[in-house]
Amino acid sequence: MTLPRKELFDLPKGVIYLDGNSLGVLPKGAAERAVQVISNEWGQELIRAWNTADWISLPSRVGDRIGQLIGAPAGSVATGDTLSIKVYQALAAALKMRPDRKVILSDNGNFPTDLYMAQGLISTIDKDYELRAPAPEDVADAITKEVAVVMLTQVDYRTGRTHDMQAITEKAHSVGAVMIWDLAHSAGAVPVDMTASNAEFAVGCTYKYLNGGPGSPAFIYARPDLVETVEPALAGWMGHEAPFEMDLKYRPAMSTERLRVGTPPILQLAVLDQALNAWDGVDMQELRAASIALCDTFIAEVEARCPQLTLASPRDGAQRGSQISFGFEHGYAAMQALIDRGVIGDFRAPNIMRFGFTPLYIDQADVVEAAKILEDVITNELWRDPKYQTKSRVT
Ligand SMILES: *Cc1c(COP(=O)(O)O)cnc(C)c1O
Repeated sequence: MTLPRKELFDLPKGVIYLDGNSLGVLPKGAAERAVQVISNEWGQELIRAWNTADWISLPSRVGDRIGQLIGAPAGSVATGDTLSIKVYQALAAALKMRPDRKVILSDNGNFPTDLYMAQGLISTIDKDYELRAPAPEDVADAITKEVAVVMLTQVDYRTGRTHDMQAITEKAHSVGAVMIWDLAHSAGAVPVDMTASNAEFAVGCTYKYLNGGPGSPAFIYARPDLVETVEPALAGWMGHEAPFEMDLKYRPAMSTERLRVGTPPILQLAVLDQALNAWDGVDMQELRAASIALCDTFIAEVEARCPQLTLASPRDGAQRGSQISFGFEHGYAAMQALIDRGVIGDFRAPNIMRFGFTPLYIDQADVVEAAKILEDVITNELWRDPKYQTKSRVT
């Protein structure tokens, strides 16, 4: 295998795309696949397509393909809904596994929706529950016998800093807590081995490094030995053992399917299925090495060219995911000026310019070119242009 595999993607001309950590690019064949599903399957087959085009098993087929990228065995990954919902389900199931404990432990670097879902769950079930969110570096010490569940995002969305999945999971288990990993910035970015981690649950989204397109479905992993006992909050009919018996009493499927909720998003799943072809034969260790090399080059180039920017990501490649962030007081305006010149990254409040590196379609020449354009924006203060000062709804 060789990286990058740019020929597998429809990349717009004149753009260096450093935001694949937020929304992946369009894989070749995705549009055709969507048209085929719409015109042939939906259009012609209509409701028969659930059987004739096997829509009904698409969620689990796609789940198995995601499983291969995160070290999870076939049948252990369910797809559907959004990541926020999968966080809620994993948390609710984990709390049921430790009924005598009242603490959810996360960290204050986590993506806000993960914390919001915890807060919402607590207010739904019982006000006695407590969410603790210390600084990421203090999490390990905060894992005590009071903790029911530790819920962390492996790669920090803002800085790229990683938690040590193995060490934290072991610590959680040593005090009897359940472990949930959010792999939003891990799946397709760093090698993950869910089986080796021994964590009970993992969740993630597919529109970032997996290129499933805006709003593509999320995934949830449950450790195979737990699958038949996990209590699925949001007990929907697609998680029922036999949905078409139309039984009035919920009886969960004896598989990860019990973590499904309602009708799957077939169009998005089909596009995601197509997108996952780009991962066939990719060696995740090789991808990781390429990712670290791209990030290292970017740090070196930007530090040499733009002393005004401060590195906000770990310098050591082993300590970060596949993104590099720089702090800059005028980060929002500078990012707008950069995007205007064809280098697309994004901005995260309060002052972070964030750049994702995706070895499937970014190479060393792209990185150097992006740094040169950034140097022009910073050195010549191109960001001062008034048109870059007004914030859009999405940053
Ligand atoms: C991107 C991301 C989300 C987004 O959740 P959605 O429900 O898909 O909008 C949630 N958590 C983390 C850690 C993320 O990085």
